[in-house]
Amino acid sequence: MKTDSDCIFCKIVAGEIPVYKVMEDDAAIGFMDIGPVAQGHALLIPREHYQTIGDMPQDVAGAVLRRLPQLVAAVEKATGCQGVNVLQNNGAIAGQLVPHVHFHVIPRNPDGEFNFNWPSGKYPEGKMEELGSKIKAAISK
Ligand code: AMP
Ligand code: ZN
Repeated sequence: MKTDSDCIFCKIVAGEIPVYKVMEDDAAIGFMDIGPVAQGHALLIPREHYQTIGDMPQDVAGAVLRRLPQLVAAVEKATGCQGVNVLQNNGAIAGQLVPHVHFHVIPRNPDGEFNFNWPSGKYPEGKMEELGSKIKAAISK
C-alpha cells in the first residue's frame, strides 16, 4: 500500500494522529474535519496515499467513492442541513493544502458559514469543441 511518512493523512490512517472517525473499511476512512467550514464538515479519504484524484487507479477510487453516498446521507441526517457540497481540491492552485486525496462533505444552510460563487463563463466560437476533443482523446488513451 502506498504511504508517505511525511503526510498528515497517512499518519491519521496509521493511527498516529487522533481523529473523530465516523466510518472506516479496508479502502477508506471518514472523519470529522478539524477546521470545519460548516458545522458537521466531514472528510472521506483513501487509506492509500495518492496526492490527487487523477493519480488514483480506478479501482481504488471506486472503492473509496462507493462510501460517499452513505457519508453524505449521514451528514444530512445528523445536521439537518438543507444541502451538501462535495468538494475535492487537487493542487495548491485549487486550494489543496493536504497532499493526500480527500473529499470534503460540507453541510449547507441558508445562513451558513460557507458559500461560494459559481461564475459561469462563455466559450469563444469553437473552443468548447476544441477542448472537448482533446479531453476525449486523452480519456481514450
Ligand atoms: P484541503 O485544503 O482541501 O487540502 O483540505 C484539507 C482539510 O484537512 C482542511 O479542511 C483541514 O481542516 C483538514 N485537516 C487538516 N488536518 C486535520 C486533522 N488532523 N484532522 C482533521 N482534519 C484535518
Ligand atoms: Zn498520505
